[in-house]
Amino acid sequence: MEYIGDVIYDYAGGLYINMTNKCPCRCEFCIRDMVDSLGEADSLWLKREPSPEEVLQLIEETDLSRYDEVVFCGYGEPTERLDLLLDVCDYVKENTSLKTRLNTNGLSDLIYKRSTAADFKDKLDAISISLNAPTAEKYDRLCHPKFGEDAFKAIIKFTEDVKKYVDDVTMSVVGSSISAEDIKECEIIATQKLGVKFRVR
Ligand code: SF4
Repeated sequence: MEYIGDVIYDYAGGLYINMTNKCPCRCEFCIRDMVDSLGEADSLWLKREPSPEEVLQLIEETDLSRYDEVVFCGYGEPTERLDLLLDVCDYVKENTSLKTRLNTNGLSDLIYKRSTAADFKDKLDAISISLNAPTAEKYDRLCHPKFGEDAFKAIIKFTEDVKKYVDDVTMSVVGSSISAEDIKECEIIATQKLGVKFRVR
């Protein structure tokens, strides 16, 4: 396979998978606008999206014993390629003892116009959902989702739903992008209203 950008890369002890550059948001803090790569990667900008066969081949050719987990996270929203993501989870579950984790903006229900939470049953060990702001208005201003103010409500609903299917659920915010007061409010939404973990990243 010719080099099209880093589809898989090492980062913090995990095998990271970068399947797409598509994303329905334009977050003001998005790392994509600052640097071209992370960890051991040279470029997370893809010349084209890899096919499912190419992604699986790259994983098969990797020495997985060096990793603790497979993480879906790159320069785009992984659920933009939901079918492939689920296929990779199946491969990992069937062939390795590695954990699987998805870092997502939580907007897959709006991307696919249906509830997607149940898709992750028996596929993911952990999911980290970007909450980013405590209200729809603030989220819209910071993340510019193409779905407008419906996005925030959809993230909350997705989190409530996905708790039924994935054991380890965390919501996160970017600490440098919002006020201390907003961080506190986000923590209350995550831990008290939704009963999930909270992380400032
Ligand atoms: S959701 Fe993630 S990939 Fe998309 S713009 Fe925001 S930070 Fe960047």
